[in-house]
Amino acid sequence: MTSTAWMGTRGAGPAGGPAHLRLLPAVAPVDVEAAADAVRALLVALGQDVTCEHLLDTPRRVAAAYAELLTPEPLVLTTFPNDDRYDELVLVRDVPFRSLCEHHLLPFHGVAHIGYLPDQRIVGLSKLARVVEHFARGLQVQERLTRQVANCLQHNLHAKGVAVVLEAEHLCMSLRGVRATGTTTTTSALLGLHRDHPETRAEFFALAGLRR
Ligand SMILES: [Zn+2]
Repeated sequence: MTSTAWMGTRGAGPAGGPAHLRLLPAVAPVDVEAAADAVRALLVALGQDVTCEHLLDTPRRVAAAYAELLTPEPLVLTTFPNDDRYDELVLVRDVPFRSLCEHHLLPFHGVAHIGYLPDQRIVGLSKLARVVEHFARGLQVQERLTRQVANCLQHNLHAKGVAVVLEAEHLCMSLRGVRATGTTTTTSALLGLHRDHPETRAEFFALAGLRR
């Protein structure tokens, strides 16, 4: 499970100026060598010949790939005062993401739609994508990932409303088991006015191009 420590300066800086929050992952660092040994043992258990030339370097490559997928980049979330009193929906659509399902260690991937109704603070648009990327790096379930993105934005922006929808294909569903290729799983996390106010919610789903 990915957990994140809330660290660093928060809400500091000159009055009314930008505020920075640095999020650092609280997960233990990956022991790549031990992981490579474990992958080698897994291959042997799966009946593979790890002495064959093609597989010789596979344990190291697999370990490095997992290390990358499970290590979040530190996230610096910079917010700014909403000097222009912008009070309409801010929406970023179709942010691609990929993560690892914690039940099968297989990828799930898709797009995120992220919206918020600003109050006192606004945030750089690219940061909305970075929040998704940050929480996607780890063993996840789509429901938790959706909620973590929404909670992180609400925690830092104190927006009037936050809405996050994730649409993803899970390889554990399409490659194995039911082999339901092409199915999409949709999850949503709605906070504030996006939860309590039907018109605000409807506007988000309409602008995001989602049937709801
Ligand atoms: Zn799975």
